[in-house]
Amino acid sequence: MKEIGHCPRCTGMDIIVMKTIGARREVCKNCGFTDIYSGLTSNTSVMMLVLGLLLLGLFSVFIVLNRTTAFQRLGSRTGHGRT
Ligand SMILES: [Zn+2]
Repeated sequence: MKEIGHCPRCTGMDIIVMKTIGARREVCKNCGFTDIYSGLTSNTSVMMLVLGLLLLGLFSVFIVLNRTTAFQRLGSRTGHGRT
């Protein structure tokens, strides 16, 4: 309903917007037509991107740390350097 600005059934402009967790409902006051928008779609992609970058950053940090610890523990022989 948001795209066209009115109810697709009765073309009524009286639309109630109800925000719920993970989705947004748009209910036509005139005929009761309900449109549900999953508000997660756009947020999820952004979240995934941030999460991916975070994991990438953590991974590189892990590699750097692993390398330094490997160099430090070269003589003590601790296998994979896991703690
Ligand atoms: Zn309607």
